[in-house]
Amino acid sequence: MPTKYIIVTGGVLSGLGKGIAAASIGHLLSSKLKIVPIKCDGYLNVDPGTMNPFEHGEVFVLDDGGEVDMDFGHYERFLAVTCQTKWNLTMGKVFDMVRQKERRGDYLGKTVQYIPHVTNVIKDHVFSVAKDENPDLVIVEIGGTVGDIENELFLESMRQLKEDVGRENIIYIHLTYVPIPYGVSEQKSKPTQQSVNLLKQRGIFPDIIIGRCSEFLTKEIKGKISSFCDVSPEAVITGLDVEDIYEIPIIFEREGLPEIIHKKLNIYSPPDLRKWKQLIENIRHPTREITVAMCGKYTKLEDSYASIVESFNHCSGHLGCKVNLQWVETTDLKDTSFLDQVDGIVVPGGFGSRGAEGKIEAIRQARERDIPFLGLCLGLQLGVIEFCRNVCGLTGANSTEMDPNTPHPVIDILPEQREISDKGGTMRLGAYPALLKEGSVVRKLYGTEEASERHRHRYEVNPAYHDTILEHGLVFSGTSRDGRLVEFIELPASKYFVATQAHPELKSRMEKPAPLFFGFVKACLG
Ligand code: GLN
Repeated sequence: MPTKYIIVTGGVLSGLGKGIAAASIGHLLSSKLKIVPIKCDGYLNVDPGTMNPFEHGEVFVLDDGGEVDMDFGHYERFLAVTCQTKWNLTMGKVFDMVRQKERRGDYLGKTVQYIPHVTNVIKDHVFSVAKDENPDLVIVEIGGTVGDIENELFLESMRQLKEDVGRENIIYIHLTYVPIPYGVSEQKSKPTQQSVNLLKQRGIFPDIIIGRCSEFLTKEIKGKISSFCDVSPEAVITGLDVEDIYEIPIIFEREGLPEIIHKKLNIYSPPDLRKWKQLIENIRHPTREITVAMCGKYTKLEDSYASIVESFNHCSGHLGCKVNLQWVETTDLKDTSFLDQVDGIVVPGGFGSRGAEGKIEAIRQARERDIPFLGLCLGLQLGVIEFCRNVCGLTGANSTEMDPNTPHPVIDILPEQREISDKGGTMRLGAYPALLKEGSVVRKLYGTEEASERHRHRYEVNPAYHDTILEHGLVFSGTSRDGRLVEFIELPASKYFVATQAHPELKSRMEKPAPLFFGFVKACLG
């Protein structure tokens, strides 16, 4: 069977959940097909690694060290694939490739133009991923909204793709918005019509339209969209507003999306959602409840911590327990009375000194009052700083990231990072194994001698302070194979005081929650 292609575009407005729609489509088709997701982003950054989380949400990190769009989190969680950096194509990468080709002389004698040179680079990249992986199906998600200048070249490339792969091997799915204006109480199709018209002007005629709506689309509106937009009524699918994104595959299945894709692409891969539905049921009908304080500085945008939120959802699915996240902004944190109301605290990853002292204070109280604590990356570093200041008696201990002149640089820059000045793609990135200490909480949770988790950092626990810290009772429950890097710490005889230099949230799955989160939630339940 030739590789089939599904192109997912979006219209009307951004933020409708195109990534989740693409991932859900993949989930529904994954029982019998090998699927590779590709995401095209129109911005000129090479990758989102240099962007503030407020700009772009969480930066997702892959095993291979790539810093990619957060939609890859959805793909990995919904498709059970390990994605690769190459599968995220940005306009920054495209222009980089075109420029390199031009300098090499690949275009000698020719004027380099958007069409065909830039569009060819985009298509060649897609084909090269397909060649590497030999998948049954490639799902290409085009970022942004039809009509955005920055995505025109991606759309044009996807239009051309049908000639290259054959019309029978490709379908176009367009996600739009169906509002129900206040006072009218009626589903409205006009924005969808206009958005499909924009797409048609670009030579793309959608095969399937998903209308995001707060209700199931009525037969009438499906009929209307069908006749105005030139698709069959059964190819108009509701993209229902849901509380939990994991419900989307269930909605799409109910709306008949798998069948229509099977028919149009001549494939057969029936969904099996039994296990998935059971886990969702557990999330929907929890028997227990906990409140967890998320102590960070990007708390105004939940997307900044998307994978952490999902990791807790995964725990809920398995433990039948609702996890209420209380977002605590630690910049200028004075009032710590929130700690009286919570069952546990998480200190997530972060950069720079803003908010650090507030987090350290929260960790101190967690340790002294035996409130379950989970530290992630920066959370481990601040946990070590707190321990050094208040248990080891190292007054003024700090990270050289926060205070370059600290008398006790207990967290310091990794030696291999010292000479690096470029900011993009230069941190310690990707999956690294850690040896887990026998008898430790962490070893029990993973159930293995080694654990491989993903990283994104420049600083480490300073080896010059290892002995002092250990003598005072903190346990290094996981280290790099050579013992130099502290990857996991824990405090014995506490309910749960565990932190890691890694980001285990990035590998948590509905089917298999991240062990450190699982242990933390269980400890919060008491
Ligand atoms: N800023 C810290 C470092 O670079 C922690 C990074 C993080 O939390 N991802 O080491």
